[in-house]
Amino acid sequence: MQDITSKLLVIGAGPGGYVAAIRAGQLGLDTVIVEAQYNGGTCLNVGCIPSKAMIHAADEFEKAAHFANGAAIGISAAKPKLDLVKTVEWKDGIVKRLTTGVGGLLKKAKVKHVKGWAKFIDGKTVEVNTDDGAQIIRAETVIIATGSVPVELPFMPFGGDVISSTEALSLSAPPKSLAVVGAGYIGLELGIAFAKLGSKVAIVEALDRILPLYDNELTRPVAKRLKALGVETYLGAKAKGLGKGGKGLLIETADDKEETLAADKVLVTVGRKPLTEGWGREELVLNMNGRHIKIDDQCRTSMAGVYAIGDVTGEPMLAHRAMAQGEMVAEIIAGHPRRWDKKAIAAVCFTDPEIVSVGLSPEEAKAEGNEVKTQLFPFSANGRAMTMEGEDGFIRVTARADNHLILGVQAVGKGVAELSASFALAMEMGARLEDIAGTIHAHPTQSEAFHEASLRTLGHALHI
Ligand code: FAD
Ligand code: FAD
Repeated sequence: MQDITSKLLVIGAGPGGYVAAIRAGQLGLDTVIVEAQYNGGTCLNVGCIPSKAMIHAADEFEKAAHFANGAAIGISAAKPKLDLVKTVEWKDGIVKRLTTGVGGLLKKAKVKHVKGWAKFIDGKTVEVNTDDGAQIIRAETVIIATGSVPVELPFMPFGGDVISSTEALSLSAPPKSLAVVGAGYIGLELGIAFAKLGSKVAIVEALDRILPLYDNELTRPVAKRLKALGVETYLGAKAKGLGKGGKGLLIETADDKEETLAADKVLVTVGRKPLTEGWGREELVLNMNGRHIKIDDQCRTSMAGVYAIGDVTGEPMLAHRAMAQGEMVAEIIAGHPRRWDKKAIAAVCFTDPEIVSVGLSPEEAKAEGNEVKTQLFPFSANGRAMTMEGEDGFIRVTARADNHLILGVQAVGKGVAELSASFALAMEMGARLEDIAGTIHAHPTQSEAFHEASLRTLGHALHI
């Protein structure tokens, strides 16, 4: 096979890699992208998109079941039936449309696509194991965008009834009982979805609360909903392995007692780790930052001409961070003066209700030495929230006490994911409380709670 020589080589076509390649192509850089599996990476194939599709399906099913029980809203319906095989087919159709779309966008940007596993020979050369044999690619500049993989528990490896989020998204029927190990966002999103689809769900978390990255005030409505859905949560408890005869999940509870939970499937969601092995990292001289590849504010690694973006470079391991890095690096390689100067990256949990966090929580802002003003506005006082049965939750604003610069915005409530953009915009534009108070927010919308929370922080809320 003839060697390929290009200006830019991107390894991995997840949100980081494919965005970098598209932008590089748009800027006229001669670009090759190598992907071992499917365009779109974790996010489009086994992450963000399929999980949100399954969550939507679970919400719809639960809504129908709710109507079958006679709802206050005055709608009744027959008991719904679920065909999870069909649901998974529908989800796969969405994934196919998006991944095919990525292929089309790469082609439109004149990016050359090579399918296969890439391995570095040296800092400017990789060998790709393709279906047609070994393909050598030489490039002036390389972007490593190899992403991340689920963390495995050494005493309970994936396989059989021990599954990762990937398998959980393609089951043929909801398990009768499901034990979820780890109450981070992936475990909770999927645990809640399966509870709505009819599984008996138990969640085991080693720390003393769910979603340990968020504060108690923010996670309380989710904890309340878990209870209402009949999900059992074991906090301060450790998974120890499968039960006797490989049946159920053996745990050590907070009071040091051993217990075996019923579990037709055990979903292990104890985090994700950067994919830093198997692609010849040892051939390069890359400084590491713990498990991640160390980068500077231009995503440069310690090796000249080698950049790294996305999950492989650390937290927050989110698709929109990977994409923003990808776009920036392509522009840097094309000679544009860019550096990472983002004020905030929104984090969204698609739990029930949803959680959004942008910037600092009140406690984090105080810990950084700020004197702060903070208030929340509850959805129970928001007209739109009432009309959509979404009264549980709030929007909370934290600002500097002296000049009212907004330091963080958090929200929990039905559908608040879509509000993340206005929170991030406020942070990025350096908004003060007065800017939000002075912006007309359409009525009736949940966004009015952002307006009211800002007014309340200023001391003159109108609707509470
Ligand atoms: P990845 O998407 O992991 O892509 C890396 C790609 O590189 C893969 O396709 C891989 O096959 C390829 N590759 C690796 N090594 C090689 C090699 N040597 N040769 C060739 N190809 C290679 N994030 C959000 O922002 N929002 C969400 O709602 C969200 N939900 C999620 C839900 C789940 C269940 C999971 C698992 C993740 C979720 N994430 C979410 C995280 C998100 O998927 C990742 O942050 C994102 O995919 C990272 O993009 P990336 O480009 O860095 O890497
Ligand atoms: P009004 O709400 O009309 O209130 C005037 C009040 O004054 C009335 O209670 C009336 O009885 C009282 N009044 C009048 N004359 C006297 C008098 N001489 N003595 C004592 N009392 C008096 N707007 C939106 O922003 N978003 C929407 O989604 C939206 N949807 C709408 C849907 C419908 C079906 C309708 C009809 C309107 C909608 N609107 C919407 C418009 C919104 O309702 C009005 O813009 C808003 O109510 C105007 O407020 P107001 O205080 O000026 O007047």
